[in-house]
Amino acid sequence: MKLERILNKDNLTRDDLIYLMSLKKEEKLERLYNRAYEIKSETVGQKVYFRGIIEFSNKCIKNCNYCGIRHDNNKVNRFTMSEEEILESANWIYKNNYGSMVLQSGERTDDEYIEFVSDLVDKIKELSNGEVGITLSLGEQTKETYQKWFDLGAHRYLLRIETSNEELYRSIHPNDHDFQKRKECLKNLREIGYQVGTGVMIGLPGQTVEDLVDDMLFFKENNIDMIGMGPYVIHEDTPLVQKVGDKEKLRSRNFEWSLKMVAILRLIMPDINIAATTALQALNSIGRELALQAGANILMPIVTHPNYRQDYQLYENKPCIDEKPSDCKKCLANRVSNVGDEIVYGEWGDSPHYFRRIEGKEKELGSKIDSRNAAGR
Ligand code: SAH
Ligand code: SF4
Repeated sequence: MKLERILNKDNLTRDDLIYLMSLKKEEKLERLYNRAYEIKSETVGQKVYFRGIIEFSNKCIKNCNYCGIRHDNNKVNRFTMSEEEILESANWIYKNNYGSMVLQSGERTDDEYIEFVSDLVDKIKELSNGEVGITLSLGEQTKETYQKWFDLGAHRYLLRIETSNEELYRSIHPNDHDFQKRKECLKNLREIGYQVGTGVMIGLPGQTVEDLVDDMLFFKENNIDMIGMGPYVIHEDTPLVQKVGDKEKLRSRNFEWSLKMVAILRLIMPDINIAATTALQALNSIGRELALQAGANILMPIVTHPNYRQDYQLYENKPCIDEKPSDCKKCLANRVSNVGDEIVYGEWGDSPHYFRRIEGKEKELGSKIDSRNAAGR
């Protein structure tokens, strides 16, 4: 059978990936997801790592056509959490042994913001005795800024390419957003020594199955260590929604495509970290569990204080808006055990791929890789 042949092959071709993305029958999809789970168990294990995410500000200078907190959306109540509130949340993550955290916000590049983030990274390292791994997801910055934050102790950076199709990228952003700059940022992050995470939105208006397959090939070509990709989800107060036809159809198609992408990516990049993203749960109440069963191994519990969750809505139907961090912890623990995975507490949870990559690159990067990265905390 064609499906079995592909699922057991070592080097899948572009055509194989298109075939898998186009599967429709329930039993074939089940087979794909089960095979991906099998590969996950053999490579990264039946384990899930937490990255507690603090969405500390919704102020943004950009105007991405899909995003609910874009600069020109004047219905948004803008906030920035105080340093004290952010450190309190970071301390909660430390005390609850999550191992790693993500600082995310809208994009800003002014000096005050850069200093604010620098202080945060420094103080979080201090309050956790260097034990909490810090990932930043703060958009496009200069190489100097990335370097500054790295030197202070941040060691992973998430910057989605959004789509690897340059034309499509242009169609979902205003003219002053630059695809080449985005790629340059990813290159700079890698050169500095960050573990680089990227990803795409799945099911954008105008995006094809071929585009999504090319996105996966882009991840592979760029030797990416971690992926956070999820469905494109409508936000009513954004320009992109004008290009959406049947909204209900879009939701179910995007959910299905996202699960397939997770599973197929696990087949072609077996040892990377793949997040079961929150957007999946905006479309399906057990979306994240299904993604874990299809090969994902990372969860990003929201640790943002409930007072602010309402105002950080990139897309409609964001889950967990009324929960406290402790509610999320319990809820996710149940969800993970339902899948049959185990949560690993107190470790950074770097992907085996990262360690293989640096073994080969250590000489090239020299002293830029410092011991805290290689320690695997
Ligand atoms: N400002 C930073 C971090 C916050 S946005 C940045 O842009 O990198 C983080 C991610 O949210 C974006 O990369 C984008 O992929 C995702 N996002 C924004 N709007 C979305 C939507 N409507 N549906 C799904 N994902 C969305
Ligand atoms: Fe700002 Fe990020 Fe949203 Fe773009 S995706 S508008 S940069 S928060």
